[in-house]
Amino acid sequence: MADKIGKILYTQDDILKRAKEIAEEINRDYDGEEVILLCTLKGSLLWIGDVMKNLTVNTKLDFISASSYGASKTSSGVVKIKFDPEINMYNSNILVVEDIVDTGNTLKYVLAKLQERGPKSVKVCTMLNKESRRTTDLHADYVGFEIDDLFVIGYGLDFDQKYRNLPYISYLEEDDVESL
Ligand code: 5GP
Repeated sequence: MADKIGKILYTQDDILKRAKEIAEEINRDYDGEEVILLCTLKGSLLWIGDVMKNLTVNTKLDFISASSYGASKTSSGVVKIKFDPEINMYNSNILVVEDIVDTGNTLKYVLAKLQERGPKSVKVCTMLNKESRRTTDLHADYVGFEIDDLFVIGYGLDFDQKYRNLPYISYLEEDDVESL
């Protein structure tokens, strides 16, 4: 059953509290400005909802889908944009809202693509950050939680497209994966 998967790393209450704190930072940083929130599909859906409902700055919303992972836990290293945002980004503040930054490979590619559209600024807000796994110079401006080198699932994050619905962040160990 989905609710028995893995061990809990962060509860929904932990995440809601952190999302509110980060939204307050964003409100301060973008005071008087408009921000385009760019939700990275599919993993960021729950996190962006928690952050955006606490934002008081003017926002617009769009979606992007980019991936370097298939049905496995390791990156293929090849990034593909599968869904491109339609919104006009010229001279706008873009805040990319991400589920997790691991090597930074995917987001680095995405940010380079966004820069081609002439935005005023581009920043990153991620729910989880695995700084120890970074192989790029990708910097996350707003970080929900800094985590160790774990494979996390839940609260939007999947394993083989499953477990996104878990209302908490959990992690899988080798034994768990073998029994799935
Ligand atoms: P990166 O390009 O930074 O190595 O990987 C970014 C993407 O890999 C994330 O957006 C996410 O889709 C996936 N990913 C990286 N680490 C994890 C993890 O621990 N759990 C899950 N479910 N996906 C991950």
